[in-house]
Amino acid sequence: MHLYDLTIHQARALLDAGEISAVELTQAVIDRILAVDNDVRAYITLTPEVALEQARAADAMGRQPQKLPLQGIPIAVKDIICTAGIPTTCGSRILEDFVPPYDATVVARLKAAGAVILGKTNTDEFAMGSSTENSAFFPTHNPWDLERVPGGSSGGSAAAVAAGECLGALGTDTGGSVRQPAAFCGIVGLKPTYGRVSRYGLIAFASSLDQVGVLARDVTDAAILLSVIAGHDPQDSTSLDVPVPDYTAALTGDIRGMRVGVPREYFIAGIQPEVEAAVRAALGQLADLGAEIVEVSLPHTDYALPVYYLIAPAEASANLARYDGVRYGLRIVGDSLEDTYKQTRGRGFGPEVKRRIMLGTYALSAGYYDAYYLKAQKVRTLIKGDFDRAFEQVDVVVAPTSPTTAFRIGEKTEDPLQMYLSDIFTLSVNLAGICGISIPCGFDAQGLPIGLQIMGPALGETTVLRVAYAYEQATDWHTRRPPI
Ligand code: GLN
Repeated sequence: MHLYDLTIHQARALLDAGEISAVELTQAVIDRILAVDNDVRAYITLTPEVALEQARAADAMGRQPQKLPLQGIPIAVKDIICTAGIPTTCGSRILEDFVPPYDATVVARLKAAGAVILGKTNTDEFAMGSSTENSAFFPTHNPWDLERVPGGSSGGSAAAVAAGECLGALGTDTGGSVRQPAAFCGIVGLKPTYGRVSRYGLIAFASSLDQVGVLARDVTDAAILLSVIAGHDPQDSTSLDVPVPDYTAALTGDIRGMRVGVPREYFIAGIQPEVEAAVRAALGQLADLGAEIVEVSLPHTDYALPVYYLIAPAEASANLARYDGVRYGLRIVGDSLEDTYKQTRGRGFGPEVKRRIMLGTYALSAGYYDAYYLKAQKVRTLIKGDFDRAFEQVDVVVAPTSPTTAFRIGEKTEDPLQMYLSDIFTLSVNLAGICGISIPCGFDAQGLPIGLQIMGPALGETTVLRVAYAYEQATDWHTRRPPI
């Protein structure tokens, strides 16, 4: 096995035993990036010198397992999360030359845990999209089939993990952007509960939905990464002040007697038959492991997509008002102040971002606010209520992550609605503020990975990880690597 193919926990064992050094491991991953990233294009910015310096420092420090769980482990960070001294573009022309003066809390926590930071990964512009094709720079390619998208918006992070271009990565999930690319790339993606992870230094898209998540090669690695980044942060008023459990302790493999809900509204026409078959087979395996499978209903599921596409653009239109060409980012000087705004924003934002700003501004405008935004907020409460009731009966809810496997580059770019439908099964988790994970559960006839989504209640990460791990131990999907 190549060093770049190791999981974090495998690499940890080899590093701790002194069989490899952090510099060797980091160099192997950098060499892998140089070999494949011309095809995959997972990274917007690479920082090999920084990475090797951090690796040398990791090798020089004595081993401190409690303090440094990621000592010497090469990690990638989605380019919407601020990194001090390293460009942070959000996949947008408007921030093409932006270099943050500070680290996001999650990045500071990675560094404090001893991680080696390899660079910044591609994203749909301001995380708006499901394929990375909305990146202002270039699309990322799926390592399982370079003609296909890796999903999005954290497609760069997912492709990097799948292709051996890092051992784990951070992404963000506003409506599915960690789970859907994880499904498309055959890896694990965890979206924590709203408030579980600090968003200080995460550039805002939709503030009531955004959450930082992790992308990894297996469930153990996801638990390790979450343990590092989770926890209260006084600099993010939405972060929850509750203790962080040891997530790896949840990985017992025992799910006997647990209750697994299957939402009838998630098995609908339009879902790719192989995806449904793989998810049904996974449910059978969970039953074999001793879980009880229970049908549940989430009756407001149909409204999740329209509700999301009112709330997310409304919040985006407010958050993106700050890009005015005055304080930072792109500045195109016009004939007047207003013209400067127009020129800067007109050239700095891509078409999907403009579409969202227009949708959001409309939904918030006087006369329409009650009919659209306020109504959407009320229906959001109903969607959350559906989950509250389901979790009175079951421990987790299981469904497909995405209705299809990875689609072709260009296939959906002309039809935004088709693109939006890619997140039909992931949006509700964000609207309800709960947690969810996607894990590999099979392949379609074309050899493309299929994702199984396990949703849990607020702060139910331990439960979700426990079920995910038990399934993973009983299968070998997570051990497959793409042909690249
Ligand atoms: N694809 C969804 C959107 O375009 C979700 C994106 C995300 O989770 N950041 O808004």
